[in-house]
Amino acid sequence: MTTHTISVLAGDGIGLEVMPVAIEVLDAATRDAGVRLDWRVQDWGSDYYRAHGTMMPADAIETMAATDAIFLGAVGHPDVSDVETLWGMLIPIRRAFDQYVNLRPVRSFAGVRSSLAGDPEIDVVIVRENVEGEYSAVGGRSYQGTPHEAAYQQSLFTRHGIERIATYAVEVASGRRKHLVSATKSNGIIHTMPFWDEVVAEVVDRAGDIELESVLIDALAARAVRSPQSLDVIVASNLFGDILSDLVAGAVGSIGIAPSANLNPAGEHPSMFEPVHGSAPDIAGRGIANPVGQIWAGAMMLRHLGHPQIADQIEAAFTAVVERGEVTPDLGGTLSTREVGAAVIAELAAQR
Ligand code: ATP
Ligand code: MG
Repeated sequence: MTTHTISVLAGDGIGLEVMPVAIEVLDAATRDAGVRLDWRVQDWGSDYYRAHGTMMPADAIETMAATDAIFLGAVGHPDVSDVETLWGMLIPIRRAFDQYVNLRPVRSFAGVRSSLAGDPEIDVVIVRENVEGEYSAVGGRSYQGTPHEAAYQQSLFTRHGIERIATYAVEVASGRRKHLVSATKSNGIIHTMPFWDEVVAEVVDRAGDIELESVLIDALAARAVRSPQSLDVIVASNLFGDILSDLVAGAVGSIGIAPSANLNPAGEHPSMFEPVHGSAPDIAGRGIANPVGQIWAGAMMLRHLGHPQIADQIEAAFTAVVERGEVTPDLGGTLSTREVGAAVIAELAAQR
């Protein structure tokens, strides 16, 4: 019996509704497979913030460091600013545990209408750099209250940072169509982006058998909506990857399906797995949130923990359920969050 301890941060809003359902699915999938998941549930997030003035306690990083992975729901509340949730929780976790890869698979499901003409089949993996680049805290504001008021912010790209994200992207591409698109903007951003292009090309050259296409981010955005079938693996900087992954995920249908992994690939520190969606205050408390993004994130977690077969089974199960139309209202169905979870568990049993 292998045991993995998992830090559970359900967070706020629908995070509290989809998390228990995903946990039930993961427990059902691991039960007869010799794997036990030891859930360490924490009540951190916006409610914690309103009671204590911080999103999580001072020893939170230490507490999570002693576990094998972090399973996150969603954090955010209308009364708590995005800056608080991001810089008080998500960014400190990513940085403390050096989760330098943000991995976002996006694919279409039969029967789920995309917002793109012709309903193209989409199967893309976006590999986003997660700890440096445009989202540095280096900068400032000057001359406030004068006509010369100004703001400036540095992007910071390191050779080490680009090499390791490109190396990870090459690995992903090797297991797929061996075609890698690198998002760039070296015609307009003339210092960091040519450096990005150079280092990515070096890494791809060393790998030998991967075809590299460097595409300007504006053209890539257009291509992602006009011919997403031409894309397989995309490697992108922090900002470009952020925008592009929402763009592609938005194109396939509900934001409620998409998962995201914040990886420390070598496993020196715990990695974090979460759905792409937020706390969705507009539908929270109604029991109708789509749990598939959280369940898929759980499958990615099991894959990372060394259980690819269980991950495959979970993915096959929710795919069958979604494609049969057993879905929540965001996908045009009538099922509740819990009913979708029960359908996935029944499908897992049926596939055995
Ligand atoms: P946050 O500030 O926490 O990021 P948000 O409102 O910016 O929240 P989301 O929570 O992602 O962003 O919600 C965007 C829209 O998508 C909302 O209308 C929400 O109801 C819908 N939505 C998000 N997640 C789901 C889900 N799992 N199931 C159904 N609808 C969802
Ligand atoms: Mg949001």
